[in-house]
Amino acid sequence: MTESLQETAQISCDILIIGAGPAGMMAAITACENGADVIVLHDKPSPGGQIYRNVDNSPLPDANILGEDYTQGGELVARFNACSARVFSSASVWHVGDNGEALFSYQGTTQRVSALEIIVANGAMERPFPIEGWHLPNVMSAGAAQVMLKSDGIVSDDAVFIGTGPLLYLIVAQYLRLGVKVKALIDTTEKANYLKATQQLPKAFAQLGMMTKGLGLLNEIRASGTPCYRFVKDIQISAAEHAKPEQASQVTFQCANETVTLQADQFFLHQGVIPNLNITRSLGLAHHWNAQQLCWQPTLDNWGASSVPYISVAGDCSAIVGAIGAQNMGKIVALNLLYRLDRLKLEKRDELATRAMQDMQQLNRFRAFIDSLYRPRDIHRMPEKSSVVVCRCEEQNLAQLEQAFGEQASGPNELKLMTRCGMGPCQGRMCGTTVSELLAKWRNTGVANVGYYHLRSPMRLLNLEELAKLETVAPRSAQ
Ligand SMILES: Cc1cc2nc3c(=O)[nH]c(=O)nc-3n(C[C@H](O)[C@H](O)[C@H](O)COP(=O)(O)OP(=O)(O)OC[C@H]3O[C@@H](n4cnc5c(N)ncnc54)[C@H](O)[C@@H]3O)c2cc1C
Repeated sequence: MTESLQETAQISCDILIIGAGPAGMMAAITACENGADVIVLHDKPSPGGQIYRNVDNSPLPDANILGEDYTQGGELVARFNACSARVFSSASVWHVGDNGEALFSYQGTTQRVSALEIIVANGAMERPFPIEGWHLPNVMSAGAAQVMLKSDGIVSDDAVFIGTGPLLYLIVAQYLRLGVKVKALIDTTEKANYLKATQQLPKAFAQLGMMTKGLGLLNEIRASGTPCYRFVKDIQISAAEHAKPEQASQVTFQCANETVTLQADQFFLHQGVIPNLNITRSLGLAHHWNAQQLCWQPTLDNWGASSVPYISVAGDCSAIVGAIGAQNMGKIVALNLLYRLDRLKLEKRDELATRAMQDMQQLNRFRAFIDSLYRPRDIHRMPEKSSVVVCRCEEQNLAQLEQAFGEQASGPNELKLMTRCGMGPCQGRMCGTTVSELLAKWRNTGVANVGYYHLRSPMRLLNLEELAKLETVAPRSAQ
């Protein structure tokens, strides 16, 4: 049920869900089926999240080329559209106060909604890939290539794809199925990872279907004749000399002890996804470092309940669980909230959640295999060359951060104050994880001891006119 602006004054509900990806949609369906009053806010024009973006309105002549994992999402979106949740599309949440009231930008003004329980389901983002030249024009993430494809049917001919992980291979395969020429796939997966991943193989076999799909993608790419360079390191993206404006036009790398150089107009980078923590961080939830997935994640119990009593977290923003895992989590979290709201008895909650809990255990074992095989190289997370830009918004390179560290900036927030690293429009999303890992390395300690930037509202970009129209904003004290 899509809501209109007039209906937004002083709205309230039992459960507020932020995000309409697989996790948020499944949470809404489950909660509505059991009689809860639900509001969903999501910042895109249509529901679906990253994986099912535009599934019911694809600009492509044949959306089947995106794969059955994509088209199957149509069923979930249809169930979501048919459920009784009040849904606000293109609604971007930018603050949640201590009083549980959420503020969101909607059609140019800020609206308020209060809820007894909040589910944060705002998904993942691509892991930063700080290598030489990653900040130059003509370099984007492979996820951005997929967003353009799914949203507008736009592709880039003859591009070079660089990195590691299933999503990278999926996007290359989607390009190839469309008949778009890919100049090369430069695969940075380390040889040693294959050996380490085999230790996880027995546990991963329960998800044989997923493994077969992954192998199928690699075979598809090889069979297309696209040049594939494997076990690549020492990547450097650069602009042609004297080019104005400066824009990336070549990549140089080491492959099998040879230096290879390729010219291209477009480079797409990807080395996995990590939770998008701008919301959970600015809400002041407790977080911890996940050494297997090499990322921060909110600290949750088995039901997705966070350290703040009325806030739960589901899907890829809790830990990387994938689309099916996100749906399972959405269901589990919603069932728990129905119990907390006295709409379900404890035994019924447990009974309804059994299957999803079991599936999560299996998926987590498979995830351990994926995390081990596609673990990004240290050098691609913690650059060593002083000229590599770490904070793209404020153009702070490694040398500048090292200097500030030498001048007593031992934590992310001191480093931010001294260099402006993390103060730009992305609010630290593109440098935060790198800064935590770099400081841990320089201090010779664990990442958990280093911490992360303090984030505050607004958690999304907000224009001053909209902010000025507000009379009161309840504070968020746990920051
Ligand atoms: C760029 C990218 C592309 C991906 N493509 C694929 C793919 O093709 N196949 C695959 O298997 N996996 C893909 N993934 C992995 C994907 O994250 C999961 O498979 C799955 O989509 C996770 O579901 P989710 O519900 O947790 O989050 P998401 O699907 O990411 O949904 C999050 C939702 O939150 C909304 N949101 C975020 N912030 C706010 C805010 N402040 N206010 C309101 N709404 C907000 C978003 O609009 C979105 O609707 C991709 C990940 C990324 C980052």
